[in-house]
Amino acid sequence: VDDASGSADAWLPGFAPDQPRLHATHKGSYGDVAVLGGAPGMVGAPILAATAALHAGAGRVFVGLLDPAAAAWDATAPELMFRPHHTLPQHGQALVCGCGGGEALAAMLPALLDHAGPLVLDADALNALAGQDALQKRLHQRASPAVLTPHPLEAARLLNCSTAQVQADRLAAARTLAERMNSVVLLKGSGSVIASPGAPALINPSGNARLASAGTGDVLAGFIGALLAQGLDPRSAAWRAAWRHGDLADRWPAHRPLTASALARAWPARA
Ligand code: AMP
Ligand code: MG
Repeated sequence: VDDASGSADAWLPGFAPDQPRLHATHKGSYGDVAVLGGAPGMVGAPILAATAALHAGAGRVFVGLLDPAAAAWDATAPELMFRPHHTLPQHGQALVCGCGGGEALAAMLPALLDHAGPLVLDADALNALAGQDALQKRLHQRASPAVLTPHPLEAARLLNCSTAQVQADRLAAARTLAERMNSVVLLKGSGSVIASPGAPALINPSGNARLASAGTGDVLAGFIGALLAQGLDPRSAAWRAAWRHGDLADRWPAHRPLTASALARAWPARA
């Protein structure tokens, strides 16, 4: 995929994901990601997103779980820092929210939309936006566009139409949402569409049906969060993450099961 707009990516000075890191840098050079989600029964979703963000190069990754009974650590990913969800996000963190969020997320969403840093809205954060004109207006007023990652059903809820109508013209659905929400919209599924206000839409050619399994969308959200934390603009972060996510699946060994937790740990150290 090439950037059809021809604009240069807004890398941090002297740094780009997938390139060798400058020696005199530290974890603060690579940004913070905060992941919010994980209603009872769905705690795995934000942990997958957070693990993916960590492996995609974010300097520090924080997790706020909405399930009050959830453990405050994950022995399989001890790098993750668990915090009470109401303390996240902190200023400047890239916020990934919605993964397994459940209905509790709806009450938190108005404040989260005003977060001054980069923002990824997935899953139940998108469901909580559907039909909420005041919230959509808040999204519209953000200084930097959010990245929305609906699958076709989530897009249909936002557009108040059927999934079949979304799928019949995926480009139009993504473009309509991008303009309406003033956001980068990544409409997932085979041939993911990345639509952005005022820029050409992109279609991601990578990926295959082995990605059709629970949790892979959470991994994608985490990848996007990591690239935003590392300084990419929202449109570049969305299409680079989508392309990498699909490319990992295309290179996946035939004999190896493709699970979301393996995918979350598969980001190459250097492309
Ligand atoms: P979700 O629906 O939120 O679990 O996300 C599923 C992820 O897998 C998205 O990134 C989709 O684009 C990807 N995916 C699922 N099925 C396919 C497919 N048949 N071809 C390419 N990507 C897919
Ligand atoms: Mg999903």
